[in-house]
Amino acid sequence: MPSWGDGASSRLLVVGLAPGLRGANRTGRPFTGDYAGDLLYSTLIRHGFASGIFAARTDDSLRLHKTRITNAVRCVPPQNKPLPAEITTCRPFLQASIAGMAELAAIVALGRVAHESVLRAFGLRLADFPFGHGREHALGEKGVRIFDSYHCSRYNTNTRLLTPEMFDAVFARVHIFLSANSH
Ligand code: URA
Repeated sequence: MPSWGDGASSRLLVVGLAPGLRGANRTGRPFTGDYAGDLLYSTLIRHGFASGIFAARTDDSLRLHKTRITNAVRCVPPQNKPLPAEITTCRPFLQASIAGMAELAAIVALGRVAHESVLRAFGLRLADFPFGHGREHALGEKGVRIFDSYHCSRYNTNTRLLTPEMFDAVFARVHIFLSANSH
């Protein structure tokens, strides 16, 4: 499952968990056909990171703006629970996605697995950058900032661990950060 969105010009990278069996794995575009995509894409559109109409299919009119979307794990994991070995095996792809982004300034990590895989991709110690919804950390000397969110999965939203308002607030912060750091 490849990343979606231009690598060279994107300033924001959203890192999900893994393609869903009937979603991204079927349609070939991250979060497309998954319940999680409804909340992700409506939120991205509201903050100007995407435009068009998300119709959960790759020939809809949805477009990303200076934003790229990828997953920590590139293949559908059994029971949607990636094993540590799968996460490690897929990390070089995440590293390559990050390395190809010369304009990268902000990363949104959707859930702890994404957060930890990004930290390892940067060669940083997990203990120095604890995961938490709404937390932010500066990563490395280039000033890339990671913004943590609970994953926008059906389970997390149904149980109200993550509300649309909580999710929106993360992207509002990202928008403010990127506006203040534009050049
Ligand atoms: N679809 C994706 O592409 N990634 C996720 O993390 C969940 C659904």
